[in-house]
Amino acid sequence: MKPIPVNEILLDGNEKKYLLECIETGWISSEGPFVKQFEEQFATRVGRRYGIAVSNGSVALDTAVVALGIGAGDEVILPTFTIISCAAAIVRAGAIPVVVDCEPHNWNMNVSQIEDKITSKTKAIMVVHIYGLPVDMAPVIALAEKYGLQIIEDAAEMHGQTYKSLPCGSFGAISTFSFYPNKHVTTGEGGMLVTDDEKLANRCRSLRNLCFQPQKRFVHEELGWNFRITNLQAALGVAQLERLEEFVARKRYIGQRYTELLGDIPGLELPVPKTDYAQNIYWVYGVVLKDEVPFDATEAMQRLAQYKIGTRPFFWCMHEQPVFQKMGLFDNVSCPIAERIARRGFYIPSGMAITSEQIERVAAALGEILHEE
Ligand SMILES: *Cc1c(COP(=O)(O)O)cnc(C)c1O
Repeated sequence: MKPIPVNEILLDGNEKKYLLECIETGWISSEGPFVKQFEEQFATRVGRRYGIAVSNGSVALDTAVVALGIGAGDEVILPTFTIISCAAAIVRAGAIPVVVDCEPHNWNMNVSQIEDKITSKTKAIMVVHIYGLPVDMAPVIALAEKYGLQIIEDAAEMHGQTYKSLPCGSFGAISTFSFYPNKHVTTGEGGMLVTDDEKLANRCRSLRNLCFQPQKRFVHEELGWNFRITNLQAALGVAQLERLEEFVARKRYIGQRYTELLGDIPGLELPVPKTDYAQNIYWVYGVVLKDEVPFDATEAMQRLAQYKIGTRPFFWCMHEQPVFQKMGLFDNVSCPIAERIARRGFYIPSGMAITSEQIERVAAALGEILHEE
């Protein structure tokens, strides 16, 4: 039996052609023309004025936090159920992450818990759209206006997704994306910040490029980073972006097919196909073991490995991270919904290149491991 990896990508559009162009013209660094083209096309795609490409989605968050002037003593509210990059960006800037629990069914941050966490130190809400469905933005926007808070929107998993017909990535003061190979658009490694604010855009550009100054290049008023992206990566990005509609349709097909095949298997909670404001784009196809199943996600993933099926666990909660506990963060925080799905959830192969036969094999294997009991 051939293994089914958790993610396989498609690079059969213009990727090769554009990469060759980089090599033939000698433009491989961040100075090459694909970088600007990718930034402009990407920003336009999400209805933004400015795009600033960076080396990955994690450093896009670092850049966003610092560009917004968030620092020592400031508080930022975010979901506990997310990737470490979100909380790391806040902590590295010297600020304090404050978490909320998630929704039991769509796994996004529970926006009704945000207001209670707002204090005089709160500067921003970091919204993270999880696994294919957007966060309910309207209440978040209302709170941000009421309390004068910034929104940082982590839309890494939301390429091509909309919230009430508006593109994800159009909501924050700054929104960020990732182009890691499991995202709908990939550049191998890569990330993007988008904003409508010219000053913020310039600040992000400066922070990305070591805060070199246009007039006195090697005199620095501030510390930045080298977070530049290469022309090679941007060339891949331009080619991938040409196919975004097709990629989203493909992911939706994968999601629908799994939902049809897994619907009859007892013991599984499946992703919500749609909410009042969006249709799932299934960044990944996650499943959660119901409480009646006598084993957890770790055991389920081990059992699937025997069928040579690749899986990944769900995110581990920020408030349960040893690294943050050692820093004295999140004392006495409890988020029962997120704690449960972190232990009982995992995702199954759902990359762009998966075939119908592979989907059927995965579904059959899931059925078997759950019927063994
Ligand atoms: C993938 C991802 C990131 C990090 O992106 P990298 O490019 O892997 O650094 C950040 N936030 C979310 C929600 C992600 O899914």
